Amino acid sequence: MKNEGSSSANPAERQRWREIFAGVGISPSKARGQNFLHDRKIVERIVDAAGVTTNDVVLEIGPGLGVMTRELARRARKVVAIEIDHALAEHLRATLPCSVELIEGDALQVDFSEAVGTDYIVVANLPYSVATAIIRRLQESDPPPRALTVMVQREVAERMCARPPDMSLLAVGVQFHGSAKVLFRVGGGAFVPPPRVESAVVQITAHPPPLPREEWASFFRIVAAGFARRRKQLLHVLSVELRLPRDTVARALATAGVTSQSRAETLGVADWLRVYAALCEAQELT
Ligand code: SAM
Repeated sequence: MKNEGSSSANPAERQRWREIFAGVGISPSKARGQNFLHDRKIVERIVDAAGVTTNDVVLEIGPGLGVMTRELARRARKVVAIEIDHALAEHLRATLPCSVELIEGDALQVDFSEAVGTDYIVVANLPYSVATAIIRRLQESDPPPRALTVMVQREVAERMCARPPDMSLLAVGVQFHGSAKVLFRVGGGAFVPPPRVESAVVQITAHPPPLPREEWASFFRIVAAGFARRRKQLLHVLSVELRLPRDTVARALATAGVTSQSRAETLGVADWLRVYAALCEAQELT
């Protein structure tokens, strides 16, 4: 997959950006993942990929200087944007069209359904250090967004969309709630300042989770146990981590159609659901 995005800015451009940042009153913060998209083609490509229409309510997390927010506002019925940085929020209040509702706050704290209602999509260039926490919070919110089209670190995008035999706890978590695919990669030249890592746009389309909410914690306790020692065989790791007799685990794996020698990375969500069901049944019988 080739990288999209124009090359890094020249010295005059860099000076222009310094002036923009000074005018807004920020010095881009690494901790807040402040790498701003300046390549309009990439912005349009992300919004196109999200399929935003005039029927959509869109939640953008981290609008930054508002480049993508303005494109979203042109196409959507309503845009709600959550920005944590006070100086950026002030700048956005002064410059965004009044059709955009700006919330100054932390996307790890804001109540999404209160902010956007019950039927919405998410389009964002996420702050990378908290991207997986934000995605998890969105997917677990009630109701979750219909779809997320988000830029994240490329390696994270690929891990979220992995298939057996390359699964991780992150992949099981994301795919439990939706179907995920990497749409395209984006090179560092599309951002100011360029991030140290490569980027990619990932799309996650929500599907109803295969278990009721009250069983999520028990299911993921078993999956997390499986990944606790990812190189070890499941029979061993599940019996040690869950403190269960080996023969109980062996029977459950057999019932689930998973060989005892399998490792966690080789199981998809459907396999884990069978292991979970078989372990629940085995524990009830013991
Ligand atoms: N959307 C803009 C763009 O593409 O140019 C900026 C994206 S930048 C990668 C991430 C943005 O998220 C920054 O504006 C940053 O201040 C904001 N941010 C960081 N942590 C946040 C959080 N916990 N909640 C809301 N916004 C956050």
